[in-house]
Amino acid sequence: MKVWVPKRYDGPIIDAHTHIGKFRSWAGIESTTDELVEQMNLYNVKKSALFYTDNRLVRKAIQKYPKALVGYVWPNPNEKEKAVRLVRTALREWKFKGIKLHPLIHSFLPNDDIVYPIMEEARKAKVPVAIHSGHPPFSLPWSIGELAENFKDIKIIMLHMGHGHGVYIQAAINTALRNDNIWLETSGMPMHSKIKEAMVRVGEDRVMYGSDSPFHEPAVEIDRICSADLTNRQLELIFYENAHKALGI
Ligand SMILES: [Zn+2]
Repeated sequence: MKVWVPKRYDGPIIDAHTHIGKFRSWAGIESTTDELVEQMNLYNVKKSALFYTDNRLVRKAIQKYPKALVGYVWPNPNEKEKAVRLVRTALREWKFKGIKLHPLIHSFLPNDDIVYPIMEEARKAKVPVAIHSGHPPFSLPWSIGELAENFKDIKIIMLHMGHGHGVYIQAAINTALRNDNIWLETSGMPMHSKIKEAMVRVGEDRVMYGSDSPFHEPAVEIDRICSADLTNRQLELIFYENAHKALGI
């Protein structure tokens, strides 16, 4: 009888996608800064990219844990100048190291004009832009691809790499194939086989681990990658080195 023995990974991890704060409505979840850091220690996560709609909470968190937590500013592009001011302040004064956009929550298309001034700030500060993917009509991989085409020198992290829908997952991989400034992040994406496919087709250096904690449990997110039939070297890349290089953390 064939026995399934999952590969294990015991090395250091960078988590490209975490939250603190309260997510009400359908989500009904929350996490404090201390809870996140405690969870990171449990899974040998050395650094986490952290974002929440209340950017002041993230600022306090990275002040408390400057080595473990890396702040990403989360603006609402519909607020136009106010959003750009927030991004500028966070990147220049609060030591945030990236920008997070959620086109679905804030109702805009990734390639909309209102996003461009925010991308200009990313360009000036040389920081990556992480974008939620996987939900119509605003957060689909093709639309993120349109933005990536217009800002080829900016690193775009496609969070969830298409998320739960097979057609969007495939589109995430194909969109990254056409745009070498797109990196794929694995949280909440159910198919272990697509992690392997992305590593092979898009590139071993273009896929990175994220948990989306507290939306997802790291044990599950880590196990899916460990089940993806990757080499030990590929596990080192996806769990740590790719994010280390691409995100500069
Ligand atoms: Zn998230």
